[in-house]
Amino acid sequence: MVEHLPELIDPLALAEKNRQFKGSMPVSKMTRMQDILLRREGEVRFELRFGKDGKFAVITGRVEADLELQCQCCLGPIACPVSSRVSLAVVGSVDEADLLPGCYEPLLFDKANIPLADIIQEELLLALPTIPQHGRCEAYKPKEKGPKLEIPERPNPFAVLAKLKK
Ligand SMILES: [Zn+2]
Repeated sequence: MVEHLPELIDPLALAEKNRQFKGSMPVSKMTRMQDILLRREGEVRFELRFGKDGKFAVITGRVEADLELQCQCCLGPIACPVSSRVSLAVVGSVDEADLLPGCYEPLLFDKANIPLADIIQEELLLALPTIPQHGRCEAYKPKEKGPKLEIPERPNPFAVLAKLKK
C-alpha cells in the first residue's frame, strides 16, 4: 500500500507495519542544502519502504531530484541530477551501528520522531559531489584566441645577411 507520508515519522512503528510511501517534497524544505543550491525550486521525489531485516527496522527505496549546484571553479550553474538508492537500518546507538550488515547505512533513532525531510536530505547530501565542479569547466579552458592576425611574410633577415656575405 502506497500512501502519503506524514512530516514526522516513527521508523520503528512504520517498519512493524511494512508501510510504503511514495511522494515528493519541495527542494526548499532541504534546509541544510540551501547554501550549496543555486536554484531552490523543484521537487525531490522519493519512494520509501519500511520493513524488517532480522531484528533491524530498515528503510529502502530511492530519492531523486534535479538539483542545480554552483560550480566551485567558475561559479556557474551545474545541473546535477541525483538518483540515490536508500538503504538505511534504524539503530539506537553507535555500538548497534557496528552490528549492521554492510549494505545498510545506520539511521540513529532515539525515540523522537524524525522529520522525513531530514532522512531525504541526508540521502541527497551523500549523493552530491563534495566540491561541485563542471567536468570540463570553462574557467579551466585556455582563453579563446581572437581571429588570427595575418602576419605579412617578411624576408628572413639572416637570409639578407647571407646574401651580403657573398
Ligand atoms: Zn565551472
